[in-house]
Amino acid sequence: MKTDRLYYSDAYIRAFSARVVEQLTFAARPAVVLDRTHFYPASGGQPCDLGVIGGAPVVEVALRESDEAILHVLSEAVSGEQVHCEIDWPRRFDHMQQHTGQHILSQAFLRAVEAETVSFHLSAEGVSIDLAAPQLSPTDLARAEDLANEIVQRNLVVRTWFPAEEELSQLPLRREPKVTGPIRVAAIGDFDFTACGGTHVARAGEIGMIKIVGAAKAGQETRIEFLCGERARRDYGLKNTIVAQLAAGFSVGVGEVEQAVARLKNENQEQRRALNLAQSQLLDAEAAGLLAVALERNGLRLVRRAWLDRDAAEMRGLAERLTKGPGVIALLGIAGAKTYLVFARSADLDRNMSAALKNALARLGGRGGGSPQMAQGGGGSAELEPVEQVLCAAEEELMPPG
Ligand SMILES: [Zn+2]
Repeated sequence: MKTDRLYYSDAYIRAFSARVVEQLTFAARPAVVLDRTHFYPASGGQPCDLGVIGGAPVVEVALRESDEAILHVLSEAVSGEQVHCEIDWPRRFDHMQQHTGQHILSQAFLRAVEAETVSFHLSAEGVSIDLAAPQLSPTDLARAEDLANEIVQRNLVVRTWFPAEEELSQLPLRREPKVTGPIRVAAIGDFDFTACGGTHVARAGEIGMIKIVGAAKAGQETRIEFLCGERARRDYGLKNTIVAQLAAGFSVGVGEVEQAVARLKNENQEQRRALNLAQSQLLDAEAAGLLAVALERNGLRLVRRAWLDRDAAEMRGLAERLTKGPGVIALLGIAGAKTYLVFARSADLDRNMSAALKNALARLGGRGGGSPQMAQGGGGSAELEPVEQVLCAAEEELMPPG
């Protein structure tokens, strides 16, 4: 049986009584159809109302297309024919603020930058519209936002009604209605006319504020994230707290936070540069020290060394420095939580470091590879001793004694 939708004529009724005309099961839960309802069913990008019916919490409200009955899905069954119903008002009023704000913002984008709204999304997490515009500048966004808030501040009357066909044909509807049958129109003063079956605030001023908080290009469209009313106020509170904490952390005024962050970033970059230079110089000195005590045989110098838990990139840097000049072989290893080996040689030698590394990893376990001149790899954890042993074996293979 088609349900009489009372929210069409008054969106501000929070409690009412109604007669249960059907009890059924919907999605494995008890549900009721009432003769009349103020509960809004999910549609047009707006979530449904929640609340209580006959003492049972409402978990979902959905439209049954076949007979336009509104199904109230409950967490438990209710008894009795006449039931007392209450709408979760903070949730409903939030939806009214976001939804009416969307009408205004969509018209504002149309007037300010000729960007048409193609879809609307409203959930507890966020509110957004998708605009048929691939490129919107910060100035475009500001113009639309300014116009939308001007409408809010003019406190225009929001009117909803079912115009007769003749009147409907005269109205400058923002978009073609998607439904057939009687068309309900929502008008915000003479600023915006839209076919809409949703719930709206009575005057634009109740929206409080419309704030764009994000714009992201997606193909030929732009998704505009925005907040209205209480959501905007809460967001302002949150951001105010964050900025105040940042300002206190930097010991500057709120207006100087941006420069303070830029300054910190610069300092950080300079310190990183200085640190890199110092680390590079340390590695130069360490490489020189290792070369000074390297094993010399037949005009070749060999550096073999293992460390516990050393940084792998640092050890690679050391191998590069050791083999920059002619006639050097470097067999370096890291033991500890993760084993890592680097085998490298000078460009003037002809030994295959990749083959030597493969042999070493076959004994130690792990994976790796590289070129005949430099190879690296490793695996799981190992003590220092077995790592030193595979380096010794590699030394004998590459530089046989005598
Ligand atoms: Zn609407």
